[in-house]
Amino acid sequence: MIHIAILGATGSVGQSTLDVVARNADQYEVFAVSGYQRLAELLQICKKFQPQLAAVPEAAAAEFQQALSAAGCKTQVVAGEEGLQLLASTPEVEVVVAAIVGAAGLVPTLAAVKAGKRILLANKEALVMSGALFMDAVEQHQATLLPIDSEHNAIFQCLPTDFSKRSFAEQGIEKLLLTASGGPFRGWQAEALKNVTPEQAVAHPNWSMGRKISVDSATLMNKGLELIEACWLFNVQPQQIEVVVHPQSIIHSMVSYRDGSVLAQLGNPDMRTPIAHALAWPKRIAAGVDPLDLMTASALTFEKPDEIAFPCLQLARQAFQAGGTAPAILNAANEVAVAAFLEQKIGFTHIPDIIQRVLDLSPIQAANDLELLLSEDRRANQLAQYIIQKRH
Ligand code: NAD
Ligand code: MG
Repeated sequence: MIHIAILGATGSVGQSTLDVVARNADQYEVFAVSGYQRLAELLQICKKFQPQLAAVPEAAAAEFQQALSAAGCKTQVVAGEEGLQLLASTPEVEVVVAAIVGAAGLVPTLAAVKAGKRILLANKEALVMSGALFMDAVEQHQATLLPIDSEHNAIFQCLPTDFSKRSFAEQGIEKLLLTASGGPFRGWQAEALKNVTPEQAVAHPNWSMGRKISVDSATLMNKGLELIEACWLFNVQPQQIEVVVHPQSIIHSMVSYRDGSVLAQLGNPDMRTPIAHALAWPKRIAAGVDPLDLMTASALTFEKPDEIAFPCLQLARQAFQAGGTAPAILNAANEVAVAAFLEQKIGFTHIPDIIQRVLDLSPIQAANDLELLLSEDRRANQLAQYIIQKRH
């Protein structure tokens, strides 16, 4: 039995993970789960999977423990940030699924890295924020980092198995082709984007996801964060990555080789495929995903991203190139701007404006210290909130 801890079990990736685990219950056991807001759902998860540990926010811990006992669950509650770190590092756990959204996932994901776990990484913001520090810790603690972000999982599947030990040139790799759906506003001009609503923005054409990543997909910041994620995961520079808009989301990314070969990973857009892949790697298990039927699939098309109407992609590329604390600042400003957009405090096109403003006002520092990264995250977060307040 392989014991799994799911950080962010109540979320979209968390639920997909639970579904894959339930289908493979002879091999995998949910040992620990965490939730943040939707604790009624976490209770249902605990009833069904009977984990040993459940992490919830401090303020909800006592009540949640009572609810568990009343439901006849032996699950033990652990509280707050310490609880999350405990889940990620507890010795019985072999696999940690990092599926918390945003900067809140950084410290617990790093705890899993430092404990040398196999980490299934969905929480791209954690890696974007702490890049070099994160990858150094993976190496130092011999953690196994497997991407479940669908594009990165696709690239991982298309790379040679020992890619981390050799340079791209040695392996004959020309570039990575990172696919993007283009989101719900693909083809729209900047003017038309001014008045879009949160409901329109979260209505992704192909994927069903949490609200924050859905807005990120609509602004193309998701692709920007993924570009940074790919640079760290695969040790490449932004020039070696081409973003390709592929609206059907059937090809999940590609690797282009010197001899003219382009390897792609295809499948129906369903997160259970990359989750199952990373869970069982190098083996394969059932994911519950319908097989891809090419005879009924629509034509596969490709186009360039519109970086004028969607400036977030370029902002992310520039932040990676600026280095140091810049990606963490970009990420913090984006989190605040997206939340403000979802609360209808700002318009859709204000999101890149606010990120740009926060970056312009923030001196970039070397990012070799976790405390500094966390304090820069808080500072950029407050600065973004201040800028938003002042607009009103
Ligand atoms: P979601 O909003 O559906 O779920 C987020 C989870 O994080 C929930 O379990 C929530 O309880 C928890 N959480 C939120 N704030 C927290 C906090 N402050 N402290 C502790 N826990 C907190 O999000 P999602 O769509 O499942 O995305 C999760 C992560 O996976 C994100 O980083 C996202 O970019 C990435 N991702 C998601 C998908 C997808 O298909 N949904 C695909 C690729 C990558
Ligand atoms: Mg993705």
